[in-house]
Amino acid sequence: MPGNLFIVSAPSGAGKSSLVKALLEADPGIKLSISYTTRAPRPGEVDGVHYHFVGVDAFRDMLNHGDFLESAEVYGNYYGSSQPWIEDQMRAGHDLLLEIDWQGAAQVRKLFPDAVGLFILPPSLAELKRRLEGRGQDSAEVIARRVEAAQEDISHAYSFDYLLVNDDFATALADFHTIVQAQRLHIRNQMSHLEPLLSELLGTPS
Ligand code: 5GP
Repeated sequence: MPGNLFIVSAPSGAGKSSLVKALLEADPGIKLSISYTTRAPRPGEVDGVHYHFVGVDAFRDMLNHGDFLESAEVYGNYYGSSQPWIEDQMRAGHDLLLEIDWQGAAQVRKLFPDAVGLFILPPSLAELKRRLEGRGQDSAEVIARRVEAAQEDISHAYSFDYLLVNDDFATALADFHTIVQAQRLHIRNQMSHLEPLLSELLGTPS
């Protein structure tokens, strides 16, 4: 039985990474796809853990070789999800989570129409602005550009299956987990092991 594919997208400032990290800790049955990126590592980021950090030439070679299930340019850097890794894991029956932008989400859903798309929203524009102000060291112009970019991302929320509002973190995490659990209970995923029960229940009454 192939595993479930979950796609999580969000504008920056929605708290996506923290929610994904907490979900993975709470649910060992789900694995995160580690993307390839040409972006430089940020302080504290580890190659092979947060991303596979590669140069532009290596990324292009992989792209030409068909190594990416999806790929996109986001804010001037390239990102892609490993096709062989994802297919191997799904074939082995693992549930996978792809933390990717809306462009990648659209590509994956064309290939896997059963993939479940979640979009995380901040609770209000004021809170989004507050979160994007960061440590208060950036100019008003830089912050305004961040807010605009986030709004552009949010305009794509309509094409996802589920919307999660990250106001209270524990509530958003519980909602996230509910969506994962519900997908596991989908008839598509239950038929292989519940067929014997259904046959028994539908058998001739003695
Ligand atoms: P960051 O550079 O801040 O980690 O990520 C920037 C954006 O790129 C985020 O929206 C993130 O979800 C997205 N992203 C990360 N990995 C991938 C990927 O493999 N494919 C696509 N399409 N987007 C990705």
